[in-house]
Amino acid sequence: MCESWKERFAESPDVLKSPRLEQTVIPVLDLEIGGDEFITMAGPCSVETEFQLMATANHVRRGGARILRGGAFKPRSSPYSFQGLGLDGLKMLARARKETGLAIVTEVMSEEDVPMVAEYADILQIGTRNMENYALLEAAARSGRPVLLKRGMSATIAEWLRSAQLILDNGNPNVILCERGIRTFETAMRNTFDVAAIALLKQISHLPVIADPSHAAGHRDLVPALGRIGVAAGADGLLVEVHPNPEKAWSDGEQSMDFAGFDEMMDGIEPYLALRKLERSRADAIDAGFMEAFG
Ligand code: PEP
Ligand code: MN
Repeated sequence: MCESWKERFAESPDVLKSPRLEQTVIPVLDLEIGGDEFITMAGPCSVETEFQLMATANHVRRGGARILRGGAFKPRSSPYSFQGLGLDGLKMLARARKETGLAIVTEVMSEEDVPMVAEYADILQIGTRNMENYALLEAAARSGRPVLLKRGMSATIAEWLRSAQLILDNGNPNVILCERGIRTFETAMRNTFDVAAIALLKQISHLPVIADPSHAAGHRDLVPALGRIGVAAGADGLLVEVHPNPEKAWSDGEQSMDFAGFDEMMDGIEPYLALRKLERSRADAIDAGFMEAFG
């Protein structure tokens, strides 16, 4: 890694790649995040009903998702919108894990809720609005669960990495960075998907990077294309919103894909994943040849 990146991110030295640590691989149930397998996390924005959650979980599992997402505590743009089912939502997620074997990622919004959410979830999500809520980050870190840290919607990469460093400093090495789009002058999309951030993080950080094209786009029609771009940029996985009937979703319906849309997106990323695999095996072959000749 070039020295200038080290200087620029000097406040978060432990998230940067080093000869000792090239890539963090996080075990979650029977899978690994940041390893060889591309991990798709999919599910509704909010947990609404048993039927909605189970139908979605079963569908996305059949389509290749490995992790079920769904919010039980919802940070909304308006405090007057639906705020989530709370503990009932967490219990539904735990039942879905039991029935499908999918791991669960769900958001925790306050320090006091960390022990409860950590009891039901496999991964704690820190939302964009809380990226700089340091008391929450410390509590989430100390829960011992892997933490999916979304980028603050107005946060620079340096600020984002500083928050990741804080989690590491609190004894938790299992941080997953999630690019979900940032606010810019462009208003056509909900956010601007910062794919350069994904490419950069894959070069400089050992932490797994997940792309969230749903919150970046804000429109379901754009999600498959942004998903493919996320793969091409080098993301270790995707986080996407899926709902059996997006028109009737209690939150983020406009950006939620229906089941057919999800299948289409999964089909669409396949060739990009195959290309990546090919590139990696070529790079490995070149390394092996180099070692044989000069090692
Ligand atoms: C979500 O994942 O549903 C969510 C609220 O995400 P963000 O914090 O990125 O807006
Ligand atoms: Mn959402």
